Amino acid sequence: MSRTDADVAIQGAGMVGLLLAAALARHGLRVMLLDNAGLPQWQTQPYSQRVCAINLASERLLRVLGVWDALQRVSPFRAIRVWDALGGGQIVFDAADLGEPHLGHIIENDLIRSVLHQSVRAATGVQIRIPACVQRLEPDDEAVTLRLSDGTRLRVALVVGADGARSAIRELLGIPVRLGRYAQKAIVAPIRTEIAHGEIARQWFLPGGPLAFLPLADGRCSIVWSLSSAEAEARLAFDETAFCEALVHGSAGRLGNVLEVGERGAFPLYRLHAARYCTERAVLVGDAAHVIHPLAGQGVNQGFQDAAVLANAVIDAQRRGRDIGGRLALRRYERARRGDNLLMEWSMEGFHQLFTRRRLPLVRLRSLGLGMTHRSASAKRFFMRRAIGADASILP
Ligand SMILES: Cc1cc2nc3c(=O)[nH]c(=O)nc-3n(C[C@H](O)[C@H](O)[C@H](O)COP(=O)(O)OP(=O)(O)OC[C@H]3O[C@@H](n4cnc5c(N)ncnc54)[C@H](O)[C@@H]3O)c2cc1C
Repeated sequence: MSRTDADVAIQGAGMVGLLLAAALARHGLRVMLLDNAGLPQWQTQPYSQRVCAINLASERLLRVLGVWDALQRVSPFRAIRVWDALGGGQIVFDAADLGEPHLGHIIENDLIRSVLHQSVRAATGVQIRIPACVQRLEPDDEAVTLRLSDGTRLRVALVVGADGARSAIRELLGIPVRLGRYAQKAIVAPIRTEIAHGEIARQWFLPGGPLAFLPLADGRCSIVWSLSSAEAEARLAFDETAFCEALVHGSAGRLGNVLEVGERGAFPLYRLHAARYCTERAVLVGDAAHVIHPLAGQGVNQGFQDAAVLANAVIDAQRRGRDIGGRLALRRYERARRGDNLLMEWSMEGFHQLFTRRRLPLVRLRSLGLGMTHRSASAKRFFMRRAIGADASILP
């Protein structure tokens, strides 16, 4: 192979791009990490609006990379309670039924990025260029030539698009996407409730969309409330008292009164799937490849799996003396991840469709289904194993 400036260029220092960089650097690969925005500085106060439910499979990956213990503020949840507000059904998923101490942790996105960034910065062989992005890419038999926004030209064996839902790498590669708009927004904010969360994640399927209370380490909860865009805008305009009352109503007062709401943010919701994950010497991971509804909190967990499987394929190719940007390695990654990501996308779509229906026979049927699943230990174990990523990949 001709001389290259790095083995792999990763565009996007989000959670997924950083995890991939850390995984590759651990095996001595030379990585160039690019991002067109600065990296956030995690701070203890205020508690960030953006948090993620990190499942056991993702926890394992972060442990293998040696960064788990550096996460200074994580909040375990040992059960998930779900209510169908209209139909009256409910279901409880308990970690004890799987013999696990917890089902996952709620962690601030910026904290995950911050610890991964520190790990990547300390690794030999990683160069970080911020702000920078790829403006042109030209693959050939031996490498891909990248022209960056600062005018630099780089040659690398493989370029990875980890640059999120609006991926510029995907655009440059001309990969089309299948896009579905929910016409919904998710409101996020930290809240303080009268009754302690008790390390339980709660979700109510309300007629307007799901409302989740995720337990935070300081005793508060982080809400994710998906609503039609118009309803979301209306609730964002509520004063604090009216917003707290709406939350008490939505949560049927299960945690008593809502005493305080932090800064509210809102994110438009859609699903997206790239028609292909790879082309010649280029590959997509994380939200650049697929975006799902956040109702089950699985987006970044899926992205971390992409990163783990791609790292395995690249490291394996390198060990065997094969081309790390070659078709074989990239197709192996795509084959392993596409089906799983599609299954997750359609499961989320199914839940979304099922729980936004208001026709009485369907409402009765779904509540019956929830009740039956609740009473069936094996059905519950099936869903829980999927949610925690029990069969997920690990890093070499
Ligand atoms: C309300 C909400 C709640 C969610 N809750 C959960 C949850 O509980 N659990 C879960 O697993 N997932 C959750 N998700 C999904 C999760 O947030 C995403 O899947 C995850 O952030 C995607 O990470 P990423 O690194 O792929 O992309 P991003 O986080 O989008 O990172 C992309 C990076 O690329 C950079 N970039 C973008 N364009 C360019 C460019 N042209 N050039 C250079 N750099 C560029 C950006 O600056 C950024 O650093 C939630 C999503 C939403 C909206």
